[in-house]
Amino acid sequence: MTAAALRWRTSSGSWPTGRKTGAGRPSSAPRSYGEDCKVLLDEEHRWFTVTRARDLADANPDILDYTALTGCRVDIDESRTEQKREGPDGKEVSYNPPRYEYSYDFYITIFVNNPYFDEIRFQVNSSSIDITPPPAMRPGMTARCNPETNVEYRNCKKLGEEIRQALTQVRKDVREKIEQAAAPKMAVTCPYCGATTTPDASGCCEYCGGAVNG
Ligand SMILES: [Zn+2]
Repeated sequence: MTAAALRWRTSSGSWPTGRKTGAGRPSSAPRSYGEDCKVLLDEEHRWFTVTRARDLADANPDILDYTALTGCRVDIDESRTEQKREGPDGKEVSYNPPRYEYSYDFYITIFVNNPYFDEIRFQVNSSSIDITPPPAMRPGMTARCNPETNVEYRNCKKLGEEIRQALTQVRKDVREKIEQAAAPKMAVTCPYCGATTTPDASGCCEYCGGAVNG
């Protein structure tokens, strides 16, 4: 068993002190992923955070603008421990073929562009997923572990993938918004004055001021 970890790694090694949720309390409930360690996405105000707290207002975690997100990765750590039995002389001996217990942990690393920290890494599962595959049939063979047969493993993998996809979508949306803002404005015919006009920053006709866009 390993305790769920949540680390905000800083390049300077100092504890992060970013913007706090308390400053601008969200009016709508953010989208939430995970149980013990949650990733929260606020579509309306375009921020996200990672917290282990049940009450966001009490915990007051650091929150990050969507624009700070640069990437996300899911890692699955596998470790194995040999299981032994007691031999005739009371000492532990290996089974033949040897038997292992496998242990899995899912980690998500969120990469951010921020003056306070570079990445947020946390464990998806609150405790390690331990799997003991059935013993190998013949001596000399090692029992293969297929963790996909374990429901807890599959659920954790699914959750990790959901978080990765949600954050990838955020990153995509931010990039699209930047591209839209940078794209040259198209000339349109104003329905009010009939002029061919390139709408101004607020989407209005440059001649009569009528709202041409939106
Ligand atoms: Zn006009």
